[in-house]
Amino acid sequence: MAVQQNKVSKSRRNNRRAHDALTAANPNECDNCGELKRPHHVCPSCGHYGEREVVAMADEIELDEDAA
Ligand SMILES: [Zn+2]
Repeated sequence: MAVQQNKVSKSRRNNRRAHDALTAANPNECDNCGELKRPHHVCPSCGHYGEREVVAMADEIELDEDAA
């Protein structure tokens, strides 16, 4: 097992962790459906990117109870 040679002070540890914060997501509203989506990504709820529908969305998921 590696053993550290010197104790890292609270100040030095906290200074190292000063750059560890995560940045919050910055969602946009979809121009087509108004849902929040990631910028420069296809809308996950309607499949639009810009003005075009680039991913065909199923209208409704049919659940077949006998299939399970
Ligand atoms: Zn959308």
